[in-house]
Amino acid sequence: MKSSIGIIGGGFSGCMLAYHLLEKTKDLQVVIFNKSSRIGPGLAYDPASSSMLLNVKAGKMSAFPSLPSDFVDWLIQVDAYPLKTKAEISNTFASRELYGRYLETSWESTQKKYADRIRIVMEEVIDVTKPEKDFLIYTKDTIFPTQYCVLATGNEIPRNPSITNDSFYQSSNYFQNPWSVNCELIDEKKPILIIGTGLTMVDTVQLLREKKKCGTIYCISPHGFKILPQGDPENTFDGILTKMKIENRLDALLTQFNVAKKEISKNRGSLEPLINYFRPYTSSLWQGFNFEEKSFFLRHLRHKWGVARHRIPPISYEQINNELLENKLIILAGIIKQFHEKPYGIDVVYTIPSTNKEATIHVASVINCTGPETDVSKMERGLLAKLHNSQLIQPDELKLGIQVSVNDFNIKNIHNTQNFYAIGNLLRGELWESTAINELREQAVQLSLQIEHAEKTKKNC
Ligand SMILES: Cc1cc2nc3c(=O)[nH]c(=O)nc-3n(C[C@H](O)[C@H](O)[C@H](O)COP(=O)(O)OP(=O)(O)OC[C@H]3O[C@@H](n4cnc5c(N)ncnc54)[C@H](O)[C@@H]3O)c2cc1C
Repeated sequence: MKSSIGIIGGGFSGCMLAYHLLEKTKDLQVVIFNKSSRIGPGLAYDPASSSMLLNVKAGKMSAFPSLPSDFVDWLIQVDAYPLKTKAEISNTFASRELYGRYLETSWESTQKKYADRIRIVMEEVIDVTKPEKDFLIYTKDTIFPTQYCVLATGNEIPRNPSITNDSFYQSSNYFQNPWSVNCELIDEKKPILIIGTGLTMVDTVQLLREKKKCGTIYCISPHGFKILPQGDPENTFDGILTKMKIENRLDALLTQFNVAKKEISKNRGSLEPLINYFRPYTSSLWQGFNFEEKSFFLRHLRHKWGVARHRIPPISYEQINNELLENKLIILAGIIKQFHEKPYGIDVVYTIPSTNKEATIHVASVINCTGPETDVSKMERGLLAKLHNSQLIQPDELKLGIQVSVNDFNIKNIHNTQNFYAIGNLLRGELWESTAINELREQAVQLSLQIEHAEKTKKNC
């Protein structure tokens, strides 16, 4: 009998995994479940605005590890930049919308090639069980039995900040999901608060301005860090970096890092090349750290790493910087205590960490850009909450994702469920960096090899 696999999530991870599986196996049937309306782009590449840019240059965004210039070749094929050379296109920050079209187009050719082996279910999966041999994948009206099941569900919406009276979160002036803000509900002139000062904040500022929302935008986070631009590729500091040793223990690594940082700062350089130097090692270093080292990193270094690592294209930086210089965008260091919604607007009370004093600002709308919820034990609804309740998934020790064996992508649980896998963001606790395209495209290949192997072993039994 032919085996089937249920892939829950039709974003980059789910589609690329399906592609490699279809290429590698002869008769495995693939069922992709997707609750959003397009297959391929997922949340990141189906943006609310066509002007939102990738934060990685086109030359590094191929969906296929073995075809490094595939995205650039596609951009040339669709004549996206008629006046640019191939080298210039490689060096461009293309729009996320274009990237979404690239993924959609490549998925369409996969679907054409393997039409008889693919089934698409455009519905939300609400539960998965494994009562006996098969997985049962539940949508609202149907149950699908499959022999393999993969969670490729991507980012969850952010958690509401903890405040004393959370009835505010029912307000129509509060937007918990930053990726689907209904801008029509936002006043054109009144001030807005964005909670969070990371990349989603940048997207949201761009979106609000594009939708002609001219009010002051406040952004708040405990550290009030500002976002940094992608730097000058010429400035690689090779002489300094090649002297560095990649140590296995966090304290030794920090010593090396600080020596290099000092030298680079003496030369007035940015830390970007230093971070880039570490990037290929981050997952293996993370796996080697013990719990104390990981916890220390999360408490003291996570935000600094985030600022230095998650940079935006220079053109987006210029826009944000102009907003800051003109005081249209104000970044605050603060911890939210309470929201009081009144007839004239919302009073936001926050504590300033450096003084421990309280301050208040007045805004008309609040948008939550604190980043995706990662702690499955805190989720109240949705598939992951259900799977956590039935103990099919369990959070990793740092609550950054779920417990997964990094050797074979099998989800670890008390039932020892076999052929149950995860890919993408859910592996953050195990790998730390498990989000960007260069990581996910490699995971898709590796996971397809595991499943191919499981299929072969089953047939030989
Ligand atoms: C705004 C943004 C910008 C980014 N920009 C870049 C960049 O420039 N460069 C880079 O390298 N990386 C970038 N990333 C990171 C990375 O590329 C994406 O997070 C990546 O696309 C994740 O793909 P995914 O398939 O794992 O998840 P997603 O793309 O989120 O796809 C998950 C899919 O699963 C579906 N789904 C979820 N739950 C269910 C369910 N229960 N039932 C059915 N369907 C379900 C969703 O509808 C969605 O379509 C960005 C991320 C974000 C959020």
